[in-house]
Amino acid sequence: MTDFVLIGGGIIGLSLAYELSKRGMAVTVVEQGEWGGQASSAAAGMLAPLKEFSQPGPLLDLGMKSLQLYPGWAKELEETTGIEVQLCRSGVMTVALTEDEERSLRQKYEWQKEAGYDVHWMTGKELRELEPLLTEGVTAGIYSPGEGHINNRMLLSALVMACRQQGVRLLSGCAVAGMASEGSRVTGVHTTQGMIPAAHTVITAGAWAGMIADWLGVSVLVRPVRGQVAAVSSIGVPLQTVIFGSGGYITPKRDGKIVLGATEDEAGFQREVTLHGLTHVLQGVIPYVPVLQSAAFLQAWAGLRPAAADGLPLLGPLPGWEGVFVAGGHFRNGILLSPVTAVSMSDYLVDGQDGPLAPFSPARFLAASDKR
Ligand SMILES: Cc1cc2nc3c(=O)[nH]c(=O)nc-3n(C[C@H](O)[C@H](O)[C@H](O)COP(=O)(O)OP(=O)(O)OC[C@H]3O[C@@H](n4cnc5c(N)ncnc54)[C@H](O)[C@@H]3O)c2cc1C
Repeated sequence: MTDFVLIGGGIIGLSLAYELSKRGMAVTVVEQGEWGGQASSAAAGMLAPLKEFSQPGPLLDLGMKSLQLYPGWAKELEETTGIEVQLCRSGVMTVALTEDEERSLRQKYEWQKEAGYDVHWMTGKELRELEPLLTEGVTAGIYSPGEGHINNRMLLSALVMACRQQGVRLLSGCAVAGMASEGSRVTGVHTTQGMIPAAHTVITAGAWAGMIADWLGVSVLVRPVRGQVAAVSSIGVPLQTVIFGSGGYITPKRDGKIVLGATEDEAGFQREVTLHGLTHVLQGVIPYVPVLQSAAFLQAWAGLRPAAADGLPLLGPLPGWEGVFVAGGHFRNGILLSPVTAVSMSDYLVDGQDGPLAPFSPARFLAASDKR
């Protein structure tokens, strides 16, 4: 009997497995495909809570906490595995091309500054001094120097190795096909390689989390939202910062590639890159850095973001059952939120502390349907 079985080995399952094992727990992770082979390797790796979360509240607090955890988390993984995860806190700029965009960015800047975040309002000229390839058309924007990006694929490799070193049992190419239960308690999982009894089962199955909760008759309303991205070669003067605009984002990686993103399209579980999607991404970002038109195209890919109906993560026990939990629904920010998810869920699962998790309880959907 293992202490924990985790269903799904993306960034969330692997991060949680690593943290639980550091706290002395016996952990098994079951992954139907390859480690991190779904949304987690498709991501652009940006760590940008101030850009991503448009209002103050628990999600922004969670994102900022995770950003603070990142340097220690990355250093520890690099030291234990020797794998460089390429954490880069070179700043994020969110820029405006029109007066309307400038007005709405200015409002965002005002409350962020008021709340004490490290953000700077800059004119187009000041932004171009930081990033000379930025178009003359950019009128102004927010610069947040503490945000950045990481190489999520290297991070996944480091987590797999760190989990192995910690003695986590890692089963890839093994699908969970059902839950084992006695009365109202989940007692483990049935997999394509047999039954795994466990004291606790955690659903870390990304876009598939809703499907798995459905097996227990609980609706947690998670759906896949496809994201299509492209990578191009670097272009003369290297870009330093992540550039966001209403048309998309441009992320210069430490390996010299530039990742351009992204669509948000509803295509069920299909992961194809479509010409429509690719055109949308390229047309969206070129206005910000026009010289990108001469960059060499390298690759395009897509992944399925796990989106809960209200856009918030799901962190906590699955209502109506004992012994089963969810860590999912991280939507556009699962790479950013992985350290805080691992640490906060472990605080809850091992030490019974649930402070920051309360707003993200999976029971909120049940409560909403009860009220109707
Ligand atoms: C194009 C794109 C760009 C993104 N950019 C960013 C970004 O810049 N920054 C950021 O923070 N986030 C980003 N994200 C979001 C981020 O990738 C996700 O939030 C995160 O990867 C979710 O991690 P996860 O482990 O929950 O899901 P996944 O990585 O999808 O992992 C879930 C795993 O569960 C497995 N699984 C499912 N069902 C079963 C089963 N029955 N049995 C066994 N295994 C099962 C799947 O095979 C999968 O590997 C991006 C996403 C996309 C698609």
